[in-house]
Amino acid sequence: MNEEIRNKYEAVIGLEVHAQMLTKTKAYSNDINEYGAHPNTNVSVITLGHPGTLPVMNKKTIEFAIRLGLACGSDIAPNQYFARKNYFYPDLPKGYQITQDKTPICTGGAIHIRTEDGAGKEIRITRIHMEEDAGKSIHDVDVFDTLVDLNRAGTPLLEIVSEPDIRTSQEAYNYVTEVRKLVRYLDICDGNMEEGSLRCDANISVNLKGASEFGTKVEVKNMNSIRNVQRAIEFEISRQIEAIENGEEIVQETRGFDALKGITISQRSKEAANDYRYFPEPDLQPLMVMKEDIEAIKSEMPALPRELFNRYTKEYGLSDYDAYNLTDNKGIALFYEALIQHTKNYKAAANWMMGDVKSYLNEFGFEIHEFPISVERLAALITIIDEGKISNSVASQRIFPEMLKSDLSPLAIAEQLNLIQDSSEDTLKGFILQVFEENQPEVERYRNGEKQLTGFFMGKLMKVSNGKADPKIANKLLRELLEA
Ligand code: ADP
Ligand code: MG
Repeated sequence: MNEEIRNKYEAVIGLEVHAQMLTKTKAYSNDINEYGAHPNTNVSVITLGHPGTLPVMNKKTIEFAIRLGLACGSDIAPNQYFARKNYFYPDLPKGYQITQDKTPICTGGAIHIRTEDGAGKEIRITRIHMEEDAGKSIHDVDVFDTLVDLNRAGTPLLEIVSEPDIRTSQEAYNYVTEVRKLVRYLDICDGNMEEGSLRCDANISVNLKGASEFGTKVEVKNMNSIRNVQRAIEFEISRQIEAIENGEEIVQETRGFDALKGITISQRSKEAANDYRYFPEPDLQPLMVMKEDIEAIKSEMPALPRELFNRYTKEYGLSDYDAYNLTDNKGIALFYEALIQHTKNYKAAANWMMGDVKSYLNEFGFEIHEFPISVERLAALITIIDEGKISNSVASQRIFPEMLKSDLSPLAIAEQLNLIQDSSEDTLKGFILQVFEENQPEVERYRNGEKQLTGFFMGKLMKVSNGKADPKIANKLLRELLEA
């Protein structure tokens, strides 16, 4: 699209994220809540909505919702009321979902996202409420019929609705990334978008910059990755601007995203929208959340990525980049937390995590819990570097690979491989003189003014000394002998 036209407009985006909760059982029954089981095996008469069955509230779902609410700084409602949302669909045996309508468990609060200028931005949360998932209609297995798997029916969900505070597809990408990180840190959802345990609907409108009102919003569904949320929004912004430029009016509608074509397609307009006939759920008592319950949940909250980020940047002197990388994955962050119990060299510990450790994990497709070196041994490696016993490069190239294979301490490995740095000047002097002997023309050139040859001599020295020369002392001594 013409840059000039694009720049006349601003986009407004609000996201609705559904997170499947990692509870053992479903929201209102004892049926097992698990992904990937044989179809229609985790279904009892309650899940099937047989007449006369009654739902029973799973307490864990309230705890999970409160955890997320506390993490976002939301207000937690003292009383929980439930509502029926009625509609007909083959994968909804009861004919309704039990949800929360006017009285969500959490209201307000915000999620902090990264922005390109580095300043960050708060995306306000409208509400977080508890509800249940429907079953799954499968259209692509049988050629003639749609199949229904009801294992998912009754799975507890949290719906997180944002205010329309998002302005670009990149911000939307960063927002969903933060939500996913948060639910993973809180252990309430596995955040797997491909398997549908985290889903996102995007509400998108555009308006002329400076307009006093937002434009008409369109809701886009069916994005199975964060990247596709971004693509769908990008497409939709262009489509809406082009329509307006052509004198068309945007109609409020629901559209689906076709990931192969990269386009959104109209599914239903507002006129055809469901009337859900919400009314209070008569089969579930209202529930009181006691202050003590909230306090208990608060006292057991895990460290959150934002808190760790702030501590790493403000107290440990790490860069935003380093801190963001370390806190991106909960497992990595917890490993780092444990590592710095054993070394106070925060920067070196961060470098090892993001360098050699991550490369190893990436190379073998491992998660951090599969990493073979304990925090104690990795910290011991950092310590002997700090003590000048080995250099960084020897540690990385020689000791670290050995540590992956054996349980020996890094010091024992260094001794065994004869890699302990020799900083005694006599030994070093011997090596330097040997280097001079073997490279007389270069010594001549150095003494004639080619000072940049220092690097050349250092390289030779490291080779001759088998990497054991302490670089700092060697450098000083080398210069002294060259200038002599
Ligand atoms: P509905 O009643 O249609 O569900 P809501 O007011 O509940 O609409 O808003 C649903 C979502 O749409 C929220 O995430 C909200 O931030 C977002 N939203 C509301 N108005 C707009 C708009 N004009 N443009 C983009 N998103 C919007
Ligand atoms: Mg809504």
